[in-house]
Parts: sequence; structure tokens; C-alpha cells
Amino acid sequence: MGGTFDPIHNGHLRTALEIREWLGVEKVWLMPSKRPVHRDLPGSTSSDRLAMVQCAVEDEPRLACDPREVMSDQPSYTIFTLEALRQELGTQMPVCMIMGMDAFLSLDQWLRYEEYLTFCHILVVARPGYDFEPNATLTGLLKKHQVTSPETIWQRPNGSIIVHQLTPLSISATQIRAIRAQGLSTRYLVPDSVCQYIQEHKLYS
Ligand code: ATP
Repeated sequence: MGGTFDPIHNGHLRTALEIREWLGVEKVWLMPSKRPVHRDLPGSTSSDRLAMVQCAVEDEPRLACDPREVMSDQPSYTIFTLEALRQELGTQMPVCMIMGMDAFLSLDQWLRYEEYLTFCHILVVARPGYDFEPNATLTGLLKKHQVTSPETIWQRPNGSIIVHQLTPLSISATQIRAIRAQGLSTRYLVPDSVCQYIQEHKLYS
């Protein structure tokens, strides 16, 4: 599950945990991007964003942080990460990329997105505030690749799209940055360890 995580919040964490249980996998890996190519520059540095993801998962063995994009010299293009993962994992292991509805709705603007499904499955998570109204290109992609059962994901290494509804949590990093900018508390929107990191490093204030 990739993201800017500026900062990571309970919407991300709850989503990752519920997906893990729904798919029946051992771990979900959170992968902060170094420098996002599809959006404005983040409000904190990539090392702060990575540190906050690491704080958020340190007491949760079912979630983990993959630092490869932050550590890489390349810009954060998902296709490069997918290529690297396939090289490490081989061609047969199923790989599933998790993304929120907002991210999926702009997927056709991402570099070489047409190739993604030759590397992985895509799991799209419904997100409050975003209606599922894909454009014609994405509708075509869904017609060809959408499945409904999570078991399908494990029958093949790649090639399926699955759209799934979880507990809706209307939390966003934008909202957290705005709360901090007003000098208010972000407690219960982010894990306490992240709250503490934000305060100690005076982020977003
Ligand atoms: P911002 O408000 O700065 O745009 P964000 O809260 O959307 O940030 P990102 O780091 O951009 O956070 O999100 C990473 C991934 O998590 C994206 O695929 C996004 O759609 C998904 N996501 C973020 N918040 C939620 C949420 N509350 N519920 C489900 N998915 C979410």
C-alpha cells in the first residue's frame, strides 16, 4: 500500500489491517513514496514521513514499512517499484497493490499504468467522499479485469482488479495538517506515537 503518508493516519492503518484480514495474508506493507509525482510536494520531508510510518507500525506485527522508495535515487514511479518487487519475488507469487478510490480514479495518468496488471493485482478501497465514477478508460480496464472474490487473487500472480468496501473512516492527511496549522490536537486521528513525533519535530505547525 503506497502513499505519501504526510502524515500516516488511522484511515491508512485501519484500511491496511482490514485488508490483511479480508485477504488472509500475513502482513500488509506500507510503502511511503519519496517524492510524489502526481501531487503537490508534501508538507514534511521524506525522512520524516518514513519515520512516522515506522513509528505507526512498530507495535503492530501485522503491518510493516517498506522504505525502498524513500531510499531510492529514482522518483517514486510505481512501475519501477513493481518491476523491482517482481525481480525479488519471482513471477509466480501473487502481489496485490492496495489503493484508495481517489488514487484509482486517476490511475490512467500514472506512468505505464497499462502494464501494472502484468505485475500485480490491484485492490481498490472505497473511501468516504469519493463516488465510484471511473472514466471511460478505467471502466474499460475494470470490464476486462474486475473480480469480486478475494480467493481469485491467490489463484494467479497478477491481472485482477477488486473493489472492496471497508469500515469508512473519513480521515485525510490534509485534514490533519490543517488541524495542526490551527494549533489543535490530532490525537485519535493518528497513533499516539505519530502524534508525539509530529509534536517533537514541530511538523505542520
Ligand atoms: P492527502 O490528504 O494529503 O491527499 P491522504 O490522506 O489521501 O493524503 P495518502 O498518503 O495520499 O493520504 O494516501 C495513501 C493511500 O491511502 C491512497 O491510496 C489513499 O487513497 C488511501 N487512503 C487515504 N486515506 C484513506 C482513508 N481514510 N480510507 C481509505 N483509504 C485511504
